[in-house]
Amino acid sequence: IKREDVRNVAIIAHVDHGKTTLVDELLKQSGVFRENQEVQERVMDSNDIERERGITILSKNTAVYYKDTKINIIDTPGHADFGGEVERVLKMVNGVILVVDAFEGAMPQTKFVLKKALELDLHVIVCINKIDRPEARPDEVIDEVLELLMDLDASDEQLDCPFLYASAKRGHAVLDLNDAPHNMEPLFETILKYIPAPEGDPDAGTQVLISTIDYNEYVGRIGVGKVDNGIISVNQEVVIVNHHDPDKKKKVKISKLYEFDGLSKTEVSSASVGSIVAISGISDIHIGDTLCSPDNPDPIPFQKISEPTIAMHFMVNDSPLAGQEGKYVTSRHLRERLFRELNTDVSLRVEDTDTTECFKVSGRGELHLSVLIENMRREGYEFAVSKAEVLYHTDERGKLQEPMEIAYIDVPEEFSGTVIQKLSERKGELQGMSLASDGSTRLEFHIPSRGLIGFRGEFMTATKGNGIINTAFDGYGPYKGDIQYRKQGSLIAFESGDAVTYGLFSAQDRGTLFIGPGEKVYAGMVIGQNGKAEDIELNVCKTKHLTNTRSSSADEALKLTPPRVLSLEQALEFIDSDELLEITPASLRIRKKILD
Ligand code: GDP
Repeated sequence: IKREDVRNVAIIAHVDHGKTTLVDELLKQSGVFRENQEVQERVMDSNDIERERGITILSKNTAVYYKDTKINIIDTPGHADFGGEVERVLKMVNGVILVVDAFEGAMPQTKFVLKKALELDLHVIVCINKIDRPEARPDEVIDEVLELLMDLDASDEQLDCPFLYASAKRGHAVLDLNDAPHNMEPLFETILKYIPAPEGDPDAGTQVLISTIDYNEYVGRIGVGKVDNGIISVNQEVVIVNHHDPDKKKKVKISKLYEFDGLSKTEVSSASVGSIVAISGISDIHIGDTLCSPDNPDPIPFQKISEPTIAMHFMVNDSPLAGQEGKYVTSRHLRERLFRELNTDVSLRVEDTDTTECFKVSGRGELHLSVLIENMRREGYEFAVSKAEVLYHTDERGKLQEPMEIAYIDVPEEFSGTVIQKLSERKGELQGMSLASDGSTRLEFHIPSRGLIGFRGEFMTATKGNGIINTAFDGYGPYKGDIQYRKQGSLIAFESGDAVTYGLFSAQDRGTLFIGPGEKVYAGMVIGQNGKAEDIELNVCKTKHLTNTRSSSADEALKLTPPRVLSLEQALEFIDSDELLEITPASLRIRKKILD
């Protein structure tokens, strides 16, 4: 049957194009907010860091009502770094709303999610937002969107999509620019008319595929998914099966079941085909699990969650200055927090190492891990991290494979030469170059993830803060060979007794320190490019002996005593930055122990 009283739709938008405002407005107009009750919290993007970085990591659900229909609105991750998630989320819906800024136009960063939606045969509603902006150019933007859809091989049916003109800020949408704007009704109506109702067999055995996991301190793990077939009820016994591991079955009883309602969830006693439900009380529920009737446990296939591509070591900060920046500093704190993150983030992997003070954390791209690092620091965790390293694979013939990314870049024209040069040095291949509507240059690179490590800082400096870079994982590809590029910076020397450690200080990376060969260091200074000592607090820090560098022993390096400023050429003579460990304290404070 078709559930005519339900619509499941995902929303796709580039950062700042108005997704949150639009959903808030739909909520308000659907009558969820009682009079005089201000919108306290924005519906989506509640995570500070997501906002700052302009990406949405966790998928969140909202439900609005229009007439007799419940519309489940599902947020899509704005970034493709967190592999597999997009597809799983899109499998819950029958259509998408693409929100595009009427001035900025379609942004290449939404391509990845949109392409997935088209591949899954979803219907698209295009919502040209911010038509109230004086610079709005809706007609051109519509052409751009159609072009993008064609580029992405949309079907004829998908190309024949409805376009709406909206001002989410003023709370209205129209189907024709000549129509008088009133409210969001035209958008609600379009959703009802154009997005197919979910279908399934209510008399068949229960099948609920868990697409996302939420976590709540009080109830623990919460599985979220759509009822594909049958009915799910409280007290029902179900079997949990996973398509990728069909022999492992587990019987559980459903204790708590919810549906989304406005910003929150309401408990329900049962839910039928097409409903999106949340289930708590099952502690080891995982993404990709299907909850089935015990008599016919038939798991629904899903895309395997992609493996991490990059790893970093998270370490206890054991310097004398430890504890100044955070309240959680012990390895027990660190371990507990990292493993807790696994509850909600399936793309993450955390492993113990030989040392109790150090954990290997692997994720999808540098950005993924840096979001985690920042979140933890904000929560009061103090720890040190190593430089990111990529995780290689070998293919069937034993050839080395490395993770690749697509980098989308917007820069004022005068910087495009520098950016192209920098990325070419890092084995990036320019795939496309175009002029954006605001006169900036848009570049698209295919590049090894390796080449992007530490690049953001350098990019910001090189473009004087005027550039935008977005990256998306693009699978594994053949190893591209050594990357050799020159880091601008100056050599620094740390003295301790008669031992000296050298490192490369790179202003480009906003103070990244690469520590070279050496022993224990107790005190020191950073010598600036012009030979002037700059303030820095230096803690005890042990550097590891390097192998595969041109000077493979600490002894050799120490021949360069006494500490002095070396030219970049001299520095590069004995520092191979790829082999070095990186410290990135925002305050230039070294708080790190590099483990042997
Ligand atoms: P999101 O990142 O896609 O969730 O975008 P937001 O909803 O946070 O909106 C980004 C900015 O655009 C905010 O400052 C909004 O107030 C503004 N905005 C959203 N919709 C409109 C609109 O229809 N017109 C105008 N002028 N501004 C809008």
